[in-house]
Amino acid sequence: MQRLSNFIAGELAPPQAGVYLDCIEPATAAIYAQTPASTAEDAHRAVAAAKQAFPAWSAAPQADRSRALLRLADLIDVNREQLAQAESRDTGKPITLARNLDIPRAAANLRFFATAAEHTSSQAHQTDSAALNVTLRSPRGPAGVISPWNLPLYLLTWKSAPALAVGCTVVAKPSEITPVTAHTLAELCIEANLPPGVLNIIHGEGATAGAAIVEHPGLPTISFTGGTTTGARIAQTAAPMFKRVALELGGKNPTIIFADADLSRAIPETLRAAFTNQGQICLCGSRILIERPIYQQVVDKLVSAARALRVGDPLDESTQQGALVSQTHLEKVEAAVTRARQESGEILCGGSRAEPPNNRCANGYFFQPTLIAGLDMQCATQQEEIFGPVATLTPFDTEEEAITLANATPYGLAASIWTTNLNKAHRTTRALDAGVIWVNCWLLRDLRTPFGGMKQSGLGREGGEEALHFFTETKNICFNTNEVAP
Ligand code: NAD
Repeated sequence: MQRLSNFIAGELAPPQAGVYLDCIEPATAAIYAQTPASTAEDAHRAVAAAKQAFPAWSAAPQADRSRALLRLADLIDVNREQLAQAESRDTGKPITLARNLDIPRAAANLRFFATAAEHTSSQAHQTDSAALNVTLRSPRGPAGVISPWNLPLYLLTWKSAPALAVGCTVVAKPSEITPVTAHTLAELCIEANLPPGVLNIIHGEGATAGAAIVEHPGLPTISFTGGTTTGARIAQTAAPMFKRVALELGGKNPTIIFADADLSRAIPETLRAAFTNQGQICLCGSRILIERPIYQQVVDKLVSAARALRVGDPLDESTQQGALVSQTHLEKVEAAVTRARQESGEILCGGSRAEPPNNRCANGYFFQPTLIAGLDMQCATQQEEIFGPVATLTPFDTEEEAITLANATPYGLAASIWTTNLNKAHRTTRALDAGVIWVNCWLLRDLRTPFGGMKQSGLGREGGEEALHFFTETKNICFNTNEVAP
């Protein structure tokens, strides 16, 4: 059985206390690896390594830092298939998704920020003839990066790459539920000759290893992606220490389909938005709002398309829906559907565990793609993030009602709207409480754009310049340009 290691000061290292957690394959429920249950002691060693590496890494020419990250990106490409297989096995996601989305995007994250950092510029302000103001940006020091289980390597690199590119060193903690590709990344860092201590990875649970990162005074910057409750706890710990914190949290995203939408595109994309990665993406459209004249037609089509999705062994190329990430998560999703029934929701398709696709997967965590109608927008099913293959269907009569319903949750991460009326698209997008809005598309990403949520979906923005700025401290230098007497 594979035993994963921490990665501290350029070396693979066992946890100090010698304790490990089991890694369970969601498709089979079998234990297939063990990951360090790191303690604060491991975290402190990682912070010390990051601190030691910081002066040289931050002072290195930008081109050197960029080249190191590009080497790592190339190695991800070289090992793409192995990483995709590992990600699929570790998370339960379909192999095609890991191959086409997760792993290519991890390499793209590193390439994007490696090159973006070479093309940024800072500002200068001329103050009449009296002064010249120059804005300097310098890396804030070692940064803590904490990421979730749904897009393991994708989000670990999305958060670490901008920090490393601008000259910060990093202590990262991937989710204890899906740690395998982070371990492989550590091996690739060694192969890429990344200087020791520049990127450190410690594995383990949030309450121990994660909390130790947040609490450590040597990490003035914390970038977190995960649940809203965890985000609130992190904010509470970090605030009195005046740490800079970015929080990318949960969502309950609306998909709004207006009567004038091109349904030939809206229906398959709405389905994709609801069920990609078994609905376990923060950006998934889990509340589908449909204008009344087309409501029944759209519902019928979505239901038959959802029923046709192939739930299968994640390692099978033809699988469209894999396993949910864990037994606990499967039970949470199941409980959410039971609650929806109690709230008088009508289960139009799915609603229970799916038949195991083969003998190998007999004990796996499979749930049918589920669509539920007839629920008031204020009920818990419509308000709380389920983060599984479950979406609700709600009719609306007017544009104003669509906006009111869309905004009627504590979240504000993403939305997608479907209309062929440009004026309506402009009006609606302005009125929606969401940090990311797609018009006639979903999850079409450009890494230069600001990414993040409003309300309880988070604090701060990632992506492009926002991410590069987040990891730097800004200094204004004012030069007196009046001639100074010698
Ligand atoms: P989670 O909050 O349980 O865990 C996320 C990470 O935080 C894990 O590494 C975990 O070990 C760590 N952690 C837990 N408690 C901690 C603590 N007290 N201190 C420090 N670290 C701690 O989230 P999850 O279940 O892994 O992920 C699912 C959630 O993530 C969903 O709510 C989803 O919407 C959200 N998410 C958001 C985005 C986004 O960009 N907004 C992207 C992906 C996932």
